[in-house]
Amino acid sequence: MKIYNTLTRQKQEFVPLHAPNVTMYACGITVSGKAHIGHLYQAYIYDIFRKFLEKQGYNVTYARNYTDIDDKIIAAANQTHTDAKLYAQQMIQNIDEIMQYFQIDEPNLWLRATETVNDIIAFVQTLIRKGHAYVTENGDVYFSVESFPGYGKLSNRNTEESLHGVRIDNDEQKRSPLDFALWKSAKPGEPSWPSPWGEGRPGWHIECSAMNLKAFGEQIDIHGGGRDLIFPHHENEIAQTEALTGKPFVKYWTHNGLIKVNGQKMSKSLGNSILLEDLKKRWHPEVVKFALLQTNYRNDINITESLFEEAEKHMYHFHSILRDVDQAFASTLAKNESIDKEFNEAMADDFNTAKVVANLFGYFKTLQQKVKEGDASALADARAIRQTYGLLGLFINPSVSVLAFIDAHQKQEIPEEIQQLAEKRWQAKLQKNWAEADALRASLLAKGYEIKDAATEYTIVKK
Ligand SMILES: [Zn+2]
Repeated sequence: MKIYNTLTRQKQEFVPLHAPNVTMYACGITVSGKAHIGHLYQAYIYDIFRKFLEKQGYNVTYARNYTDIDDKIIAAANQTHTDAKLYAQQMIQNIDEIMQYFQIDEPNLWLRATETVNDIIAFVQTLIRKGHAYVTENGDVYFSVESFPGYGKLSNRNTEESLHGVRIDNDEQKRSPLDFALWKSAKPGEPSWPSPWGEGRPGWHIECSAMNLKAFGEQIDIHGGGRDLIFPHHENEIAQTEALTGKPFVKYWTHNGLIKVNGQKMSKSLGNSILLEDLKKRWHPEVVKFALLQTNYRNDINITESLFEEAEKHMYHFHSILRDVDQAFASTLAKNESIDKEFNEAMADDFNTAKVVANLFGYFKTLQQKVKEGDASALADARAIRQTYGLLGLFINPSVSVLAFIDAHQKQEIPEEIQQLAEKRWQAKLQKNWAEADALRASLLAKGYEIKDAATEYTIVKK
C-alpha cells in the first residue's frame, strides 16, 4: 500500500521498519478547553489508519498523547480557580467520554506529559551533554537550532523562512530566536517538578520526542498530526530526537488537513469552534463521520450546515435500504467479496476515503433495486457493506436506531408553527375536509415544507 509522506513530499510504498510490526504515534490534544470537531477529526483519521493497517495484516501499536501541562492549561485553570492538574484531569475525562460517544476507539497506548517528566529530564540532559542544548541563568533550557544542520527538512524551510514562522519572544538569554524551550523555569504558583536546573516544567515539543522514545525506542514507522503541527512542532521533534540518536526518527510523516467553518479558519479567537457537545445534540455519530469522510484526509474540510444536512440525508437513505433488506430477506450463506476488494484497493492508495465513500452510492443504488425485485442476494451485499465499512465506524449501529435518531432530530429542527400547521392539516384530512387540507398543504409548501402521508401518520420534510 502507499502512504503520502510529508518528509519526501510524495506517495511512497509502505514498508515498515520491522514488519509485521508497525509503530504509529499521533500528537494528541492539549487539554486546555472542550473538545471540538478538529480533535474528533484527527482521532478518527488515525483510528482508521490503525484499523486499515491491521486489516492489511500488520501488528499495529498506536500511541496518542495528552498534553496535560502547558501555558494555556495553567491560564484556563486560573480562570476557573482550579488547580491545573485537577483541571487537566477533568478535561481528559470529558474528552474520553465524548470520543466514546462518537464511537472512536482508544489507541493502544495513552501517554501523558505529566507521567513522562523523568524521561524528559533525562532526554534534555543528554542533549545538553551532546552540545545541542544550553541552560540560561534563569534555569530555562533551550535547544540550539544551529547545532542541528537538518533543521527545516520536514517543513522545507531555510533558516530565514523559519524565522517568519516562530513567535518571537523576548528572552534575551536565547542565543538565537529560532531556539526553542526544552525546559521552562517555574513562575510562582505554577505546577512544577524538580530538575537539575531548578523547579520547572517541560516545553511542549520535547514531550512528544520523549514519549516516542519511551514507548517505541529511537525510530518509528508513522507519525501523525494536523498539518498545522508541521512547523514548528514536528520540525522540533525531529531536531530533538535525531540530535539525540543520530538516526532518522520517523519513516512516514503524515498530516491531516484542517477544519474550516464556513470558509474561515476555525479558532478559539474567532469564536467559531464547533464543540463536540453541541454536535452531539443534533447529529448522529455516523452522520458526522460520513460528513468528515467526503474529503481526502490531507485536504482541508469546510464545515457548513449543509455538509451535515447532506450527510444526514444520505445516511437516512442508506440505513432505510439496509432496514428494508433486514426485513425482506431471510438469512443466506451467499457472500459479496467485491465490495471489500474495492474498499481495500482504494484505502491502500493513501487511505482514499473519498473514493470508498463515493462507491457507497453505487452499492446502495444496486441494493435498492435488488430489494424492489426481491433478489435475496441483497442480504449478502448489505452484510458486506456493514462489515467492510464498519472499519470507518459507519453502519455499525442498527439501522432502526440510526433512523429513529434522525427522525427525532428532524422533528426537533422543524419550527413549532410548522408542526402546528401540519397537525391542523392532518386533522382536516381525517375529517375529509379536503379543501382546507389542500390549502394548508399549499401554505406549508410556500414556507418550504412538504408533507408526506403514510397510512396512519405523516412526516414533515424540509425542502
Ligand atoms: Zn507532538
